[in-house]
Amino acid sequence: MIIKLTKSASEKSINEIIEFYGALHFTKEGQTTIITSSSVKKIENKFEPFVEDLTITESDIQLASKAYKNSVREVNLGPIVIGGNTNNTVLISGPCSVESREQIFKVAEKLVSMNIKIIRAGCFKPRTSPYSFQGLGKEGIDLLKEVKSKYGLSIITEVRDFSHFDLVLENTDILQIGAKAMYDHGILKNVGKTNKPVLLKRGFGTTLKEFVQAAEFILSGGNENVILCERGIRTFETGTRFTLDLCGVAFLKEYTNLPIILDPSHALGYSYGVPILSQACVAMQIDGMLIESHPDPLNAKSDASQQLPLNTLESFKNKIEKVANSVGYNIV
Ligand code: PEP
Ligand code: MN
Repeated sequence: MIIKLTKSASEKSINEIIEFYGALHFTKEGQTTIITSSSVKKIENKFEPFVEDLTITESDIQLASKAYKNSVREVNLGPIVIGGNTNNTVLISGPCSVESREQIFKVAEKLVSMNIKIIRAGCFKPRTSPYSFQGLGKEGIDLLKEVKSKYGLSIITEVRDFSHFDLVLENTDILQIGAKAMYDHGILKNVGKTNKPVLLKRGFGTTLKEFVQAAEFILSGGNENVILCERGIRTFETGTRFTLDLCGVAFLKEYTNLPIILDPSHALGYSYGVPILSQACVAMQIDGMLIESHPDPLNAKSDASQQLPLNTLESFKNKIEKVANSVGYNIV
């Protein structure tokens, strides 16, 4: 149950309600919202005078639910808005990892020439093997800062674990929480206390409900700027890297109020099929697309097989634009 209290509710009564239900809460512009377990279906009579608005929920998908907010939330990403009823599919691109000044500047120049506003590149990489390239760490963050000041692009980069949380938080416009860090409650709860836009990727062994509950950790801290990212789940299939769960996208659009970005690059794992899979993605009227791109994919230090060469990015954009336009959306 979500209880929006009146602004005149006293601190004493607010604390009494929180304690009574063992609930979470946040306060925005003088108004406190209390979130109990979804098993609570009725407000106590004694608390009724303090209630401005009440939402009874079916499951612990609460703040993210359509029952709470019957439209898609808008998240302000600086130069562009994602979600709401913008009918925008925001194209976000960049290499898997920042590798060098030359590499990241080449990508940035290409994106700027195509009017793409957001660059995404990892500095703290959650690699499966300890012997693989782990990212440039702080050096990569410094390069992204240079890119931002030179090209005016907004930055998305990933927080892998809590050891570099503050560094990444301070220096990114949108914080990416990857498939492997999706269960890190320290990261989720701490970013929940900020207003930083968050790109939350679905774990590859995560059910849709678990995925949205991870988002609830952020939302219940008071951070309303959460974007979900479907990036493929693990199935019995080995011909592709993962399986992009487009059924899941339909579910999330039906039952949640969060903007949705699709990441066909990580799902498929091979660049040959990224354009055609992306056409299927934008046909679903999605809020954004994440596409890995690199000046020299074959020699990339991570995810070499799936990144689109920069010289194919423009024809890629034209292809998906046609499909997006045919369903009433614009690629921005
Ligand atoms: C990435 O975005 O480069 C990445 C590591 O993705 P994921 O967390 O989805 O595996
Ligand atoms: Mn990658």
